[in-house]
Amino acid sequence: MLGAMMKQELLISSLIEHAGKYHADTEIVSRETNGDLHTTNWGETAIEARKLASSLSKMGLDQGDRVATIAWNNHRHLKIWFALSGSGLVCHTLNPRLFPEQLIFIINDAGNKAIFFDKTFMPLIVGTREHLKAVEHFIYMGPHDEEVAAAVPGAIFFDDLMGGGDGDYQWPQLPEDTPCSLCYTSGTTGHPKGVLYTNRSTMLHSFAISLPDALSLSASEIILPVVPMFHANAWGIPYCAAMTGAKLVMPGPGLDGDSLLGLIDSQKVTLALGVPTIWMMLLDAAEKSGSKMETLRRNVIGGSAAAPSMIATFRDKYDCDTIHAWGMTETSPLGTANMPKAKHADLAPDARAALRLGQGRPPFGIDLRIVDENGVALPHDGVAEGALQVRGHWVVDTYFGMTETAMTDDGWFDTGDVSTIDADGYMVIRDRTKDIIKSGGEWISSVDLEGIAVAHPGIAMAAAIGAKHPKWDERPMIVAVKADGANPTEEEVIALFADKVAKWQIPDAVVFTDAIPLNGTGKMLKNKLREQFGDTLIERGV
Ligand code: ADP
Repeated sequence: MLGAMMKQELLISSLIEHAGKYHADTEIVSRETNGDLHTTNWGETAIEARKLASSLSKMGLDQGDRVATIAWNNHRHLKIWFALSGSGLVCHTLNPRLFPEQLIFIINDAGNKAIFFDKTFMPLIVGTREHLKAVEHFIYMGPHDEEVAAAVPGAIFFDDLMGGGDGDYQWPQLPEDTPCSLCYTSGTTGHPKGVLYTNRSTMLHSFAISLPDALSLSASEIILPVVPMFHANAWGIPYCAAMTGAKLVMPGPGLDGDSLLGLIDSQKVTLALGVPTIWMMLLDAAEKSGSKMETLRRNVIGGSAAAPSMIATFRDKYDCDTIHAWGMTETSPLGTANMPKAKHADLAPDARAALRLGQGRPPFGIDLRIVDENGVALPHDGVAEGALQVRGHWVVDTYFGMTETAMTDDGWFDTGDVSTIDADGYMVIRDRTKDIIKSGGEWISSVDLEGIAVAHPGIAMAAAIGAKHPKWDERPMIVAVKADGANPTEEEVIALFADKVAKWQIPDAVVFTDAIPLNGTGKMLKNKLREQFGDTLIERGV
């Protein structure tokens, strides 16, 4: 032998052990379901994760069994994550905003043996229980509660499990390819499909996204993951926080602007992460309260495109640097993040701001390409648009329960997005393949049009969709929600586009509606909007 290095499997249990040992007194502040604030730390979290793992092993759960959670971002949920994944069980986060039928489908498809639930979701458990085929244990995330005991006969109580648990439990030494968690796509584009992450894929993702050119995490950060733990594992933040020893602030059910603002200011949050709809509410609350969110130095926006006007507001009004990131459930989720390079330091402010609008570059571990309709790779010149494909250490190979790989013949995963990539690797999402507007054979990016529409102060939310057109097949139109107290007109909104896009890309119509339907992860349901408004131009007799 020439020599050797130690070989340790890449295991999630090592994350919580590290945090418990080296960041024991770093706080984890969490909003309880009843609204109270609860404070614990990494030291206690590590002990309680071990206790819970020991109790679960006594309940007859075997390695590889899937255990679901239907819960807010809170301290119990965090302990459950580490207890399940660390002990060889699979933590399956459920999205409570799905319809009950979808939840039943997902729970049965995953074959969940047990479900942890927050009190908020007790009615969902009561309403669906008789359809849940494999679930043997219902575990309430709280102390003994008579109301829960009556509504969910046989319920087990999290705090009782803690009482009977062994704080000296030893994590099993698993092979690193052991599955650790399961997350279903939100099904906006078809039946929900499960993505089964492994200890290894999750660990490599955590290392990569903590790096400075991705989310730049460290023990000096105070992180508020507004993105739910059921939305692609809260973009990996709970794992990365344990890895880097960051303080976590978990918002529980308080996702409204005022609650988030209160947490940011009282806990001195330095970094917050969430989808665009969350930031709209937060900016509104900050505007009304006059808070400058002094400590919030950075925020991460992903899940849907961040509008240029939103990025500018955070930068100019709140001195908060937005990291625009792209990913999907299938990519663990981080695929790209937008950080500048050294050569951009001298760019004029406008050019630098323009660079930061896109979804950014892949970290090491992710590779991107764009292809045309025949699968032929297109140039990375920032102009060519094609189907975005991705490969890497934390990208899905085969969906849960399926036998066929989800990869192309040459080993890439097709994202369903259309994008450009420039010579430096900066990727810009132009649209989802299904949402791009096709006018007379030319493509129009709905993302671009939406960004322009929401820059109008009188517009709270806007979706660009293709409306049916007898000559052009589709023409762009805007469906908009007016801001409180504002009354913009159709002409005024259309005028916004005049000097910003080519003439043939200017929307033909603007209709106002009370609310835009969103899916369980806050994305606009464009298929519903097309059903509702797709005939607008035909009805107008164009
Ligand atoms: P689902 O695909 O089921 O809606 P995901 O949360 O996995 O659930 O969504 C991934 C998709 O979200 C991406 O393929 C992309 O279309 C969209 N997306 C994510 N981040 C961004 C972003 N920053 N800009 C534009 N689109 C985004």
